[in-house]
Amino acid sequence: MSKNKNLYTLIPKVDELLENANIQELLNSMPRKIVVDSIREEIDILRKDIRKLSLDEEQIIERNNRLYEMVMDRANKKNSYKLRRVVNATGTVIHTNIGRSLINEEIMDNVKEIATNYSNLEYDLEKGERGSRYSHLEDILVEITGGEAAMVVNNNAAAVMLVLSTMAKDSEVIVSRGELIEIGGSFRIPDVMEQSGAHLVAVGTTNKTHLGDFENAITEETKALLKVHTSNYRILGFTSSVSAEELYTLKSKYNIPLIEDLGSGVLVDLSKYGLEYEPTVQDSIKNGVDVVTFSGDKLLGGPQAGIIVGKREYIEAMKKNPLTRAFRVDKFTISALEATLRLYLDESIAVEKIPTLNMLSLSIEEIEEKAKVLYDLLADNIDCENCKIEIVDDYSEVGGGSLPLEKMPTKCIMLTLNNLSVSRFEKALREYDIPIITRVYKDRIYIDLRTIREDEYKIVVDGIKHSLKEIEGVD
Ligand SMILES: *Cc1c(COP(=O)(O)O)cnc(C)c1O
Repeated sequence: MSKNKNLYTLIPKVDELLENANIQELLNSMPRKIVVDSIREEIDILRKDIRKLSLDEEQIIERNNRLYEMVMDRANKKNSYKLRRVVNATGTVIHTNIGRSLINEEIMDNVKEIATNYSNLEYDLEKGERGSRYSHLEDILVEITGGEAAMVVNNNAAAVMLVLSTMAKDSEVIVSRGELIEIGGSFRIPDVMEQSGAHLVAVGTTNKTHLGDFENAITEETKALLKVHTSNYRILGFTSSVSAEELYTLKSKYNIPLIEDLGSGVLVDLSKYGLEYEPTVQDSIKNGVDVVTFSGDKLLGGPQAGIIVGKREYIEAMKKNPLTRAFRVDKFTISALEATLRLYLDESIAVEKIPTLNMLSLSIEEIEEKAKVLYDLLADNIDCENCKIEIVDDYSEVGGGSLPLEKMPTKCIMLTLNNLSVSRFEKALREYDIPIITRVYKDRIYIDLRTIREDEYKIVVDGIKHSLKEIEGVD
């Protein structure tokens, strides 16, 4: 028998599969093209397998019976969003890879109202003429920080670039060598400086810079002194750096403005909540810094944004810089940031309602309570022959390049597997319907309760159950 040709005719045609009742249902919920492409691709795989694996008639019929299921899986995958929610079980609160800060739902109500309606984004309702998109945030930023004026751009990297370009283009800016930072691989102070057109004058050494180093470097060409918060590292040991207060003495002597890139931009004194003291934006303004920049989605706990606060003359000049148009924030950001900043008018409300601050200020007792609830759910729902579940002490991190040395005591669910692959389990959790991002340490999986909300417990339980089954099936 010349088998091969006949075998290929056993594969159903695209049109036949389209008639299948399950596939018909798919067509109601997604674009036809996705369904048809998925059918073609699955048929193609089967065709190749017939040749590669020398499938016989029986095997092909068996594969045919599963074909529509494979098509449905493939189509559902193709039709799902690429940007998806995940569960952060890492304990790192401001995790840049998985979205930094969360916005609470009340704030999103405001964003929805603005995004689904026309708004006074750039319209002055009193005068009935064109207004400025920067006006909505300025008053509240001034009120909270004590600065004279404020504006907001796309992110802090853009803020630093705009500040340098406006205040020191084609001139010199003095920075300590100990503060020539790189953040997240693509933000490097010397590179940002070059792009802005300002000339970097680095002074001092990696571990020590003195006020005199700054003073000696001042020339006719000096347009600013820059202080950069060494967000994501600390130089320990034999060190000294020049504080903003000390730099202020030079500022007044030589009349050179002082710029500070604060990075995280914390607006409340975190030491009240058991964390290391982190200089606030208000401190910088009080110390006489002329222009301060910081992120919206780090310790502030709002949307991605770069916030600039300081002397009116500089901020007004920035608003006129053509770069501002390129760095401008959209209405989503403005509405989310305005709603977030309003919460800061009452610190206790900010700490309660802003997820980032809330997670950072959880007490160990509160986290332990959460761990016990999740533990009980796991114990009730998971038949754990091949694994052991325990509550253990551990440490969470702030993340986002903030407080790099701070270790916050926390409680984790620790999973130990017997004769099963931990890396495969971690991967299965990561690829679950709602991905669960965990920490692996010494062949164990850690699930940190600090960054998991109560409404996510069920996802965690189901995800662990599903993933265990998956890897048990494979082993
Ligand atoms: C994080 C950080 C930046 C970059 O801020 P983005 O908002 O991510 O652009 C710049 N400078 C410092 C000191 C930082 O910590």
